[in-house]
Amino acid sequence: MTLRAQLLARIAASGPITLADYMADCLLHPKYGYYATRDPLGTGGDFTTAPEISQMFGEMIGLCLAQSWLDQGAPTPFILAEIGPGRGTAMADMLRATRAVPGFHAALQVHLVEASPTLRDKQKQSLSAYKVTWHDAADTLPELPLYLLANEFFDALPIRQFQRDGTGWRELLIGAADNQLTFGLSDPTQLAALDHRLPDTRNGDIVELCAPASAIAQTIGQHIQSHGGTALVIDYGDWRSLGDTLQALSAHQHTDPLADPGNADLTTHVDFEALATATPSAHTRLTTQGIFLERLGITARANALAQRLTGTALETHIAAHRRLTDPTEMGRLFKVLAFYRGETPPPPGFDQ
Ligand code: SAH
Repeated sequence: MTLRAQLLARIAASGPITLADYMADCLLHPKYGYYATRDPLGTGGDFTTAPEISQMFGEMIGLCLAQSWLDQGAPTPFILAEIGPGRGTAMADMLRATRAVPGFHAALQVHLVEASPTLRDKQKQSLSAYKVTWHDAADTLPELPLYLLANEFFDALPIRQFQRDGTGWRELLIGAADNQLTFGLSDPTQLAALDHRLPDTRNGDIVELCAPASAIAQTIGQHIQSHGGTALVIDYGDWRSLGDTLQALSAHQHTDPLADPGNADLTTHVDFEALATATPSAHTRLTTQGIFLERLGITARANALAQRLTGTALETHIAAHRRLTDPTEMGRLFKVLAFYRGETPPPPGFDQ
């Protein structure tokens, strides 16, 4: 059986499903899910991410979190954590770059939140030199100060999508016709969770809601309010989502999200306002990835690394620096949201 056949049977038995149900099965179904069954970042994978593009990304994040830890009085012990760590590359680079920060390694415990058994295995390999604790969800992280990275994690969470119709909303549903999966719309309903979008949308506009993203952001925000620390959430998206941002990627190409369930990566843009407001008392700042990395000194680091390189390796390195920071590449589309405690300064890389 394929996931497509299973979804068609489910829809035949109990009717159309929401986009969130569809995404959840496509991404994390234990037998057929995209992340559950493969390493999408490996050689010949479907997409690449900042830590896979250059070691400089994890180095800058590691130093940012270490400086923030120092600014907050170097609490001991503390958690260095990542949610959705992929191949463990960013965490390995963060740990290597912070080796010389006095007291940092002696005080830290590495914790990873990862749903995919395949990627947990990769992380075990890349972090074999460290003691690591894995979690299924962020709410089991120990009650200690938390210094956390989530890079391209929130874009992989299931969303629901709604189209404005008068003062109500029609929900995007996945049904079946002629043994094919098809998109359809529900009848209009009133939805309290979207009342705040009535003033800034018009008939026909599409908005997206990601309930798991708000819940996880709330867990992180409350953890930091209670125990201290800093979290950096990096992803593509904007302060407030508007429009259809669902996309499917396979072998670095855009494909139809319904074409081959479980075998293409499904992502959406992140609504940073929803993350920042999930914990009303949390302090947050938002900037772009390009500005953030420049303020942290990525260009000086790029120049230092370039001294040792020649030929193709040098060209690849220069292109990687541009890709991470240039506004026409990842520099502007990707945003960085920081959570931190109000009594302490925002982490380096944000406006003081
Ligand atoms: N941060 C990495 C990987 C990004 S891919 C990088 O930048 O390269 C998304 C990651 O989130 C993968 O590790 C995937 O397995 C994990 N993931 C997706 N949904 C998850 C969930 N609900 N809970 C925990 N991890 C999840």
